[in-house]
Amino acid sequence: MPTYTAPTRDTRFIVNEVLDLASYGNLPGFENASPDMIDTVINEAGKFCAEVLAPINQAGDEHGCTRHEDGSVTTPPGFKEAYQAYVESGWGTLAQPEEFGGQGLPHVLGFVLEEYTGTANQAFAMYPGLTAGAISAILAKGSDEQKAMYVPKMISGEWSGTMNLTEPHCGTDLGMIRTKAVPNGDGTYAITGTKIFISAGEHDLTSNIIHLVLAKTPGAPDSTKGISLFIVPKFLLDADGNPAERNGVTCGSIEKKMGIHGNATCLLNYDGATGYMVGEENKGLAAMFIMMNAARLGVGIQGYAQAEVAYQNAVNYALDRRQGRALTGPADPAAKADPIFVHPDVRRMLMDAKVFTEAMRALCLWGALQVDLTHKAQTAEEREMADMLIGLMTPVIKGYGTDKGYDIANNMQQVYGGHGYVREWGMEQFVRDSRIAMIYEGANGVQAMDLCGRKLAMNGGKAIQAFFAMIDEEIAAAKQDETLKPIAERLEKALGEQKAATMWFMQNAMANPNHLGAGAHHYMHIMGIVTLGFFWLKMAKVAAAKLVGEPEDKAFYEAKLVSANYYAERFLPDAGALRRKLEAGSDYMMKLPAEAFATAA
Ligand SMILES: Cc1cc2nc3c(=O)[nH]c(=O)nc-3n(C[C@H](O)[C@H](O)[C@H](O)COP(=O)(O)OP(=O)(O)OC[C@H]3O[C@@H](n4cnc5c(N)ncnc54)[C@H](O)[C@@H]3O)c2cc1C
Repeated sequence: MPTYTAPTRDTRFIVNEVLDLASYGNLPGFENASPDMIDTVINEAGKFCAEVLAPINQAGDEHGCTRHEDGSVTTPPGFKEAYQAYVESGWGTLAQPEEFGGQGLPHVLGFVLEEYTGTANQAFAMYPGLTAGAISAILAKGSDEQKAMYVPKMISGEWSGTMNLTEPHCGTDLGMIRTKAVPNGDGTYAITGTKIFISAGEHDLTSNIIHLVLAKTPGAPDSTKGISLFIVPKFLLDADGNPAERNGVTCGSIEKKMGIHGNATCLLNYDGATGYMVGEENKGLAAMFIMMNAARLGVGIQGYAQAEVAYQNAVNYALDRRQGRALTGPADPAAKADPIFVHPDVRRMLMDAKVFTEAMRALCLWGALQVDLTHKAQTAEEREMADMLIGLMTPVIKGYGTDKGYDIANNMQQVYGGHGYVREWGMEQFVRDSRIAMIYEGANGVQAMDLCGRKLAMNGGKAIQAFFAMIDEEIAAAKQDETLKPIAERLEKALGEQKAATMWFMQNAMANPNHLGAGAHHYMHIMGIVTLGFFWLKMAKVAAAKLVGEPEDKAFYEAKLVSANYYAERFLPDAGALRRKLEAGSDYMMKLPAEAFATAA
């Protein structure tokens, strides 16, 4: 059975040393996050996920969820008990506002928990993950009454939440949704339609499920401008706010799918179900985007989470499995063969995984800090800057993080040879589970278009210019330091490729928008590569400063410097090749007529 150890040392390095969370102690919510408190949360979250959630991950995959005749759904063995333990430990309350029963701690700590739960058991993590997203939408756009009715029980974990966008004929293009919301005359709406692929849409973990549903009111514009958002609880609430009468929403079926078998992916039939509008009529998509943005960051975490657990197991396997001899002569002459860990090609895969996951962790926790600063920073300029940066980075975290995370999980399976292909070792589950992250919350092609078509041009390019300035500043300082200079110079070159690619878009995409579409994926990857390079430079700076003295765990900091150099040498050069692909434009890509794609017998 695969194992999981929460990488608490690395998390503490990022939270305490790279981000220096304690230095934000003057901001609301941060005052409770003392260094001791931060360490306790990290260690206890790690323990809970490793001891309670990881052990039921493989069984969850094998059993999956079961839908019964009456439309009810049971989760795999152990999920209910684990969820109860999660609720009793108060994990869902961590970063939620105190006035609704949360602990009000920084989102950074919420993201730490999200990484550990998602790594230990992605299918399980999605139940509380979707609830957190639904809470954020209700808090942002709901009425005071809605907040008071639903949010405290969702934060406590007594009730869960879902996100209902997708319909059989529309996923990306939400303007086409057909679900209807007809006024009942008493302020409520009758919701009718079919939603598909709804994660955690029906299950046995909570006493109520609060569905957030996109639907159109009569006469609304037949586009994204005509979508409204509704709360549709599985059980309507009585006068005391307790679940009472069953609402008109039922689970018609659950999907048989490639991975995350422990999470019920449901077809939900809404048959005149009572719904309550959230926010303004026809402004539902913007409200749902609040939930989706939070969820996209969560999915970005899923990308490296599966890579992380696959990496941990692959390292153990590579140290244990003996095949062949080291190219430089036997490493263990007494044995018949050396561990496969000695082979540079195996090392290549393990090093790629190590430097990717560690930098993604730094990026995502920095992203969480920006979410906090968006709301809590002292000046309006700081709040605006944080908001701009996280808006710009969200498609990169989601799109690049999950594309590359899947590749890495795949490579970790490769380390096992044939044993990675059979179910016993659990590696193929990590690959299957990680695959969905490239698709949901907006497929990665759509993330790339969000980045290139919207975010680059946002506020006259202010966000991307701020991103360039932030990295330029770090490079300029690092070039003064002999240890950091080689990393900084390679990053400077890669950043130059990104700047040139940005300029190419500016000069060519207006005349032919297909050039933008053809290069968007490459651009998103260039930006992902550069961003992780930036975080490696930041981590190397902290490690180099530590190594001037005699730190307790010298080997940890030395490894950071080696990893930063490896990343600079082996990842950053890809930015140049991707830029050249991007600059090839769309001519040959779009030239062939549809008939030329037909296979001739
Ligand atoms: C396991 C699972 C769980 C899910 N959970 C939820 C959930 O909880 N709630 C929910 O509402 N939905 C959920 N979904 C649905 C998911 O979000 C959609 O599948 C996804 O958004 C893509 O929509 P689609 O499948 O209709 O693909 P399509 O929209 O048909 O897209 C197909 C392909 O075309 C590309 N494409 C489409 N339009 C464009 C464009 N304009 N530019 C560039 N490329 C484009 C896409 O990138 C994609 O690769 C889930 C799906 C799965 C499989």
